Amino acid sequence: MYRDPEISDDIRQSMVAWRRDIHAHPETAFEEHRTANVVAQALTLMGLPVHRGLAVTGVVATLRNGDGPSIALRADLDALNMQELGGGNKPHISTCQGKMHGCGHDGHTAMLLGAAAHLARHKPFKGTVHFVFQPGEENEGGGRVMVDEGLFEQFPADAVYGMHNFPGMPRGQFGIRVGTMTAYLDTFEITVTGKGSHGAMPETGIDSIVVASQLVNALQTIVSRRTGATQSAVVSVTQIHGGDTWNVIPETVVLRGTVRTLDAAIQDKTEAAMRQICEGVGQTHGARVELNYMRGYPGVVNTPAETAAAVAAAASLVGEAQVHTDIPPAMGSEDFAFMLQKRPGAYIAIGAGEGDNDPPVHNPYYDFNDNILPLGAAYWVALVQQQLPAD
Ligand SMILES: [Zn+2]
Ligand SMILES: [Zn+2]
Repeated sequence: MYRDPEISDDIRQSMVAWRRDIHAHPETAFEEHRTANVVAQALTLMGLPVHRGLAVTGVVATLRNGDGPSIALRADLDALNMQELGGGNKPHISTCQGKMHGCGHDGHTAMLLGAAAHLARHKPFKGTVHFVFQPGEENEGGGRVMVDEGLFEQFPADAVYGMHNFPGMPRGQFGIRVGTMTAYLDTFEITVTGKGSHGAMPETGIDSIVVASQLVNALQTIVSRRTGATQSAVVSVTQIHGGDTWNVIPETVVLRGTVRTLDAAIQDKTEAAMRQICEGVGQTHGARVELNYMRGYPGVVNTPAETAAAVAAAASLVGEAQVHTDIPPAMGSEDFAFMLQKRPGAYIAIGAGEGDNDPPVHNPYYDFNDNILPLGAAYWVALVQQQLPAD
């Protein structure tokens, strides 16, 4: 077990109260107005100057203590469009139909507020800390919007750090790796245009359904035949739309899907292969095949020095043996990546599991584990103390 982090009782209680209040009132991308109010009010009560409005509902507070380096610590504010289940033992269950804090961003926000409260009270550092609360992590890229709207110009930071709870990792442990932590997320839409005809006379048309079918199979060879066995890529066609009735071969078929990779070079190669396959299959059949390849979240890529800083902070709390420094990258994605494209930094996983049956994030029975609030806040405090030493 780990040394109990030195976060005072009143801050621990505040973190639980913030977390449950935010959990009960989930808000999704760029509509986190109430949540942003809760955060801004708490930070103002701590005596910190608060900036609002980056990416609509973003909140940034700055704590300065003399001259020194400056770092940004980031939490996410948003909930998911999903229905929460399992109300009996959750007094703070979502009061908003169809919305839920199913990813623990309520807890991330509470932990960063707790760290801000501790740091504002004791100021055990020299330099500047920016507390960044970003909207719209799920799907909408609020992190990108904050960066585009000038986050790091208005709040200069030498490095930026993020954290996510992992229910699959036991409480009291941390996980991280240098390099790619989460996947590059892309989506695509392929429009196949053939020549519509009678279902009984395919020879008078160009069958878009047959072309689309061959495309689905050919796309699978990108991973199986063109990507090395030790490399990683996923190409999934998740939608096929075409045809309205029994005896008409449709003029067009639309395919949609997603691509995940762990490396920018493989991402480029996968997109190029898709273009080649679309063009080639179309040409073979005399159909027009258009590919709209849309790049989404890039990978979260941890830089070496900042990863070492994150490991040192975590190890000072739980011991080196409890900090896994080479966890496998996740095929999920995370828009903290946009901040890491602008500044060096590191994203760490904090274990939140109590047993074998903890619901995973994005599960309707999931609930952030309040038992990790003090450790999460203590991680931020340790990181600031170590990276912005007081003397
Ligand atoms: Zn999520
Ligand atoms: Zn999340």
